[in-house]
Amino acid sequence: MFSAIDICKTYRPRGGVPVEALRGVTLRFGERGMVFILGKSGSGKSTLLHILGGLDDADAGYLEIDGKTTQAFSRKDFDDYRNEYVGFVFQEYNLLPTFTVRENLSIALELQGKSASEEQIAAALAKVGLAGMEKRKPTELSGGQRQRVAIARAMIKEPEMILADEPTGALDEETGQSVLKLLKQLSEEKLVIVVSHDRDFAERFGDRIIELADGAVVRDTGGRA
Ligand code: ADP
Ligand code: MG
Repeated sequence: MFSAIDICKTYRPRGGVPVEALRGVTLRFGERGMVFILGKSGSGKSTLLHILGGLDDADAGYLEIDGKTTQAFSRKDFDDYRNEYVGFVFQEYNLLPTFTVRENLSIALELQGKSASEEQIAAALAKVGLAGMEKRKPTELSGGQRQRVAIARAMIKEPEMILADEPTGALDEETGQSVLKLLKQLSEEKLVIVVSHDRDFAERFGDRIIELADGAVVRDTGGRA
C-alpha cells in the first residue's frame, strides 16, 4: 500500500563536504500498525521521515502510494499527498503559540480548504484525552498535553498515516510513555511511523522495528506493519 523504493539522499552544503544521508533505502509498509525507525543521531532517520512524508525530495528513488508512483508526481501532487495523506508530529510540537487549541486544530483543516465544526474539534480532542481544552493556549499546557494537541491536529485531517519524529524527545519518561500509548492506540486504525533513538520504547511499543545506520537499513523485524 505504501512503499519507499531505493531512496537516496545526499546533502551538499555550500562550501562543505557532501553528506550521504540515505544510501538506497527500500521499505514496504502495511495499512496499520506501529513502526519504529531506530538509529543513532545522524543515521538518517529524520531525512527518511521527511522524504516519506513529502516534506523533502529524494535525489533518487521514489514512493509508491496506493499503487501510484511518485516518479511522475508534479509539485501539486506532492503538496496534495503531504496535506491529505500524511499527519505529522514533531518533537517540538510546532503548535502556533498565540492561537488557542481550537484554532491550532481548525487551521490544519483550513490549509486543506476545509472548515472544522465544533463537533469535529471536540471529538479530536476527546480522542487524545483533552476533552474541553479548546480555549487553552499552548503556553497553558504541559509538554505531554501539547504533544497530544499536535497529535489531534495530525488526526483531524483524517490522514492515512501518521509520521512522528522523536515525539517523546522533549518529554519525561512517563509522559513519553503515555504519548506512545496514544499513538499505539491510533495505530490500530492507521499506519504510524515513529522515529526514535530509544530502543526500550521501540521494543515495548513497536509492531516492527527498522534500524538505520549510516543511511542504510541494518535491521528490519518485519511483521504485520
Ligand atoms: P537523524 O535524524 O538520524 O539524527 P538526519 O536525517 O537528521 O539524522 O541526518 C543524517 C545526516 O545528514 C547527518 O550526517 C546530518 O548531519 C546530515 N544532514 C541532515 N540535514 C542536513 C542539511 N540540511 N544539510 C547538510 N547535512 C544535513
Ligand atoms: Mg532526527
